[in-house]
This record gives sequence, C-alpha cells and structure tokens, in this order.
Amino acid sequence: MDADTASPIRHARSVSTAPAGGGGDRSRPGSALSLSALRAILLDLDGVVYTGSTALPGAAEFFSYLRRSGRRCQCITNNSTLSADQYAAKLAGMGIAVGPEGVLTSSEATAVYLQGYLAPGARVMAIGEEGLVRALLGHGFRLVDREPEVVVCGLDRRLTYERLQRACLAIRAGARLIATNPDLSLPTEGGFLPGNGATLAYLQAATGVSPMVVGKPAATMLEVAMQRIGASPAETAIVGDGLLTDILAGQRAGVTTILVLTGVAQRADLAASPTQPDYVFENLPQLQEALCRGDER
Ligand SMILES: [Mg+2]
Repeated sequence: MDADTASPIRHARSVSTAPAGGGGDRSRPGSALSLSALRAILLDLDGVVYTGSTALPGAAEFFSYLRRSGRRCQCITNNSTLSADQYAAKLAGMGIAVGPEGVLTSSEATAVYLQGYLAPGARVMAIGEEGLVRALLGHGFRLVDREPEVVVCGLDRRLTYERLQRACLAIRAGARLIATNPDLSLPTEGGFLPGNGATLAYLQAATGVSPMVVGKPAATMLEVAMQRIGASPAETAIVGDGLLTDILAGQRAGVTTILVLTGVAQRADLAASPTQPDYVFENLPQLQEALCRGDER
C-alpha cells in the first residue's frame, strides 16, 4: 500500500505521513523505548498470535524466541468467556507452550482488580460465562443474586431479562458496576454479534450509571499483567492488532506500543487514526527480526 511496508516505522516518522485532523494521542510525552531495551511483552492473542483457531505464521517461533532471549511475556485478551486454562489448551494445540499463568483474560484481570478493594468473600453479582465465574470464584468471591457490593458484567450469550433486571436493581441500590471489557461487537464467521459493550449500554441506559472498565482500552488490565510478571512500564511493550484497544490501552498504561498488521488494523486505518503506535510491523516474524537485531548490538 505504501513504501513503508518493507520496514518497521517509528511513531515519529509515521505521523508525518498521516493525514491532519487527528487527536491528541499522537505526540506522546516521552520517546519510545528502543526495542532492545524491552524486557517484557504483553501480547494480544486474536489477530496477533492466531486468527480464530488458526495460528498465524511464526507465532510459535516468536514465543520460543522470547523465552530464549530471557524476556517475560503475558498473553492478554479482552475475551471474558473462556478461562486461562482453556486459552492455554488452545495455544498448546497450536504448538505454543504457555501455562494458564501466562494468559490474562479480562475476567481474570477483573477478579485481581476487585481483590484490591473488596474483602475476601465479598458478595459479587456476575453477568458472564464460565471464564468470569471461574475467575471470581477462584479469587474467593461469593457469587450472589441479590444485594451484591458490585455487579461484574462480561459477555453472557445466555443473558435473560430477569438477570438484567436483578443487575439494574442492584446497581440502583448502590452496587458498583464493573465491566470486564467494553467491546461493542463480537466478530464471528456469521457477522458482528452484540458484544459486552452492548450489554453495558443497556445497563447504563436503564440505571444512568457508567461502568468502570478493566479490559482494553483501559490501562487496568495491562497494569495487572505487568504486576504478574514483575515488569515496569519503562521496560514493557504491548503488541496488538487494534489501535483503539491495544495501542490506546498501552498509551494509557505508559508502555511502548507495537502494532502488527495481521488483524483488525490495516495501513489505511493507521494513516487515518489519531492513536498512533510507537512501532508498526507487518507481523510477528518481522518484529522478532527487529528484536534480534537489537539483541546483537
Ligand atoms: Mg486482537
């Protein structure tokens, strides 16, 4: 599409080719870290490591490289419906050995976040599927149908009016509304289906209460991920395929941002976006090459 396709471009250079009219996210206060200084990688899954159930070329090799080069890695996904174990099994099926502790779902991140301000055994109402239920129970919360301290909302593809009704009453009675992720739609083979953001819009319309969001593009999920692997923002990068999810979350968390063009965002989107990553690569093998070059220096 343009002359830059063969080589990674740095933020500063990509900006000069972008059309005018963007927002304030373009100029970041600090300059991006050089790639060789990165010691920790937060890796988005869908559109980066795989598409649906198919691994993207070079994904397994990228994980091996990170391990060899001594970099810490945490896979992060906004999907709240599956558990970390289920993701680990999915990755294992693609020849990628990552334990459940190597995957942070938005459900898991939400449970960790809640631990920070709720007492053990606190009453939580959950709208969500197995991934959320397991994460909340695993962190010692009590799942209840009435009088919760917080209502946690993740995607629930069997959601009923009765459940929404209970949630609305609880929120009106003062329960805090926490969202695993704000994604409005869910891309599937059959088209774009309503995502968790659509449920949140419903709850917000019915109660007038805005949710506190944990997943991307909020910084919270990335902060939980860094805490897990003992990494600071200064040594960490997020690698993702979404400008308004991964890259925006990375900027908010103060980490280096790396966009790969194997998923949602294409070069045309990048040119038109007010949110600009620090680095852009075609795919993981190209990023790996650049990291390797840095290692040799
Ligand atoms: Mg993605």
